[in-house]
Amino acid sequence: MSEEKKYKEVENNKITKIKYPIGGFAPGHYISKCITCEEQFIGDMYANQCESCAINAVNESNIQAISKIHKLEAALDTIKEIVGKK
Ligand SMILES: [Zn+2]
Repeated sequence: MSEEKKYKEVENNKITKIKYPIGGFAPGHYISKCITCEEQFIGDMYANQCESCAINAVNESNIQAISKIHKLEAALDTIKEIVGKK
C-alpha cells in the first residue's frame, strides 16, 4: 500500500490520520453554528459542533469516564474484601 493510501485526505487538502467524527464534528463543506460556543464553523452537513468544542467535549467525557472507573474499581475492591475474596 502506498504511503498516500494509508491516510485519509480531507477536503482542505490536509493529510490526516484523524478518524472522524469526533464528538459532534466531522469535516465537510457546510456552514453551521456550533451548539456549544454558538460560533459559525465549516463541517459536515450533520456536524453540530466546531472541531475545538468537539475535541474538548470528548476529552472532558473521557476524564469523567476514567474517574468513574476508578470509583467503581475501589468499590469492587471493598466488595471483595467484605466477601473475603481478597
Ligand atoms: Zn464550538
